[in-house]
Amino acid sequence: MKSSKRVEDPGAWIESTIKSFINNSPENSLKNEGNDRAWMDPLVGFSRGDDHLYREFKEYVGFFHWTPGEIFTRTFPRSKVSPDELTVISWVLPHNERTKSDNRKQTAYPSERWVRARVHGEEANEKLREHVVEALQESGYEAVAPMLSPFFERQSSERYGFASTWSERHAAYASGLGTFGLCDGLITPRGKAMRCGSVVAHIKIHPTNRPYSDHHAYCLFFSKGLCGECINSCPVKAISEDGHDKVTCRNYLRSVVEDYVRSHFALEGNAYGCGLCQTDVPCESKIPTESDVT
Ligand code: SF4
Ligand code: SF4
Repeated sequence: MKSSKRVEDPGAWIESTIKSFINNSPENSLKNEGNDRAWMDPLVGFSRGDDHLYREFKEYVGFFHWTPGEIFTRTFPRSKVSPDELTVISWVLPHNERTKSDNRKQTAYPSERWVRARVHGEEANEKLREHVVEALQESGYEAVAPMLSPFFERQSSERYGFASTWSERHAAYASGLGTFGLCDGLITPRGKAMRCGSVVAHIKIHPTNRPYSDHHAYCLFFSKGLCGECINSCPVKAISEDGHDKVTCRNYLRSVVEDYVRSHFALEGNAYGCGLCQTDVPCESKIPTESDVT
C-alpha cells in the first residue's frame, strides 16, 4: 500500500470517479442489440464509519450485519484504524428511461431490458465497485467493497427474513440518498427504479446531509396515509399494507420468472428480475408528492 497522496477535495474526487465510470465506461451496457446504457447519471453520498445508524442496523437486521469498522478490520487486520476514520461511499444507479418505460407496460413478467439491467447492469455495478476500490488503493487509501468481500454471506434475520452481512440500500439510506418504501425499495431523488453500491474506505470525507429523520419519510403511504400503488402492481400480492412479503416475492422470482426469462429472452444462466413494484408507481423516478396521487 502506497502512502496516501493528498487529494484536495476527496468527496468531489470520488464523486467524479463514480460518475465518469458510469457515463463513459463501455461496461455500462445492457448488452442488447443497441448496446444501450444500463444506468443513467448516478447519485453519490457519504456517511461516517462510526455513524450510529450502522450500530442500529445490527440491532434491527441482526448481529451478523457488519458495521463499516467490522468489514474493514476483517479485510485489513493489520490496520489500526478506528471507525471514525472510515467513510462509507454509496451510490445510486438510476435505470435508463427506456428500461422503465418497457417495464411500465408489463403486468406479470419483467421486460427484457429490466432483466438485462438486473444481469449485465449489475455486472457493471460490480466493475464500478472494483474501480472505486482500485482508484482509492492507487492513491494510498485502503478500501473494500463489502458486497465483493469473500466474507460476504447471506443470512436470515429474525425480524426481516432474507438478509445478509451488508446491505447496499441501508448504506445508501445512511449516506443521505433515500428512505424505504412500503415495498422495501429505497426511494431516492431519482426514484426507486435503481440499484445501488458502496465501498468502505480509510479516507475522511464530509458526510452527506440526511434530509430525513424517519426511514420511511419519502413513502406517501407512511408519511401521508396515501398511495399504496405498489400493492396493486405486484402480480403475486407480495406487498400489502403490512409491507413486503420477501418469501412470496422470492418464490415468484426464482420459480416462475426464471422459467419465463429462460424461455423468452436470450440470456445465459439463471437470470431473473421483476421490478413491477418499482415502475409505474409515483415513486418510480422521484420522491413522490401528494399531487402525484390526488
Ligand atoms: S408506490 Fe406509493 S406506497 Fe408504494 S413505496 Fe411508492 S410511495 Fe410508497
Ligand atoms: S419484485 Fe415483483 S414479485 Fe417482488 S414484490 Fe415487487 S412486484 Fe412483487
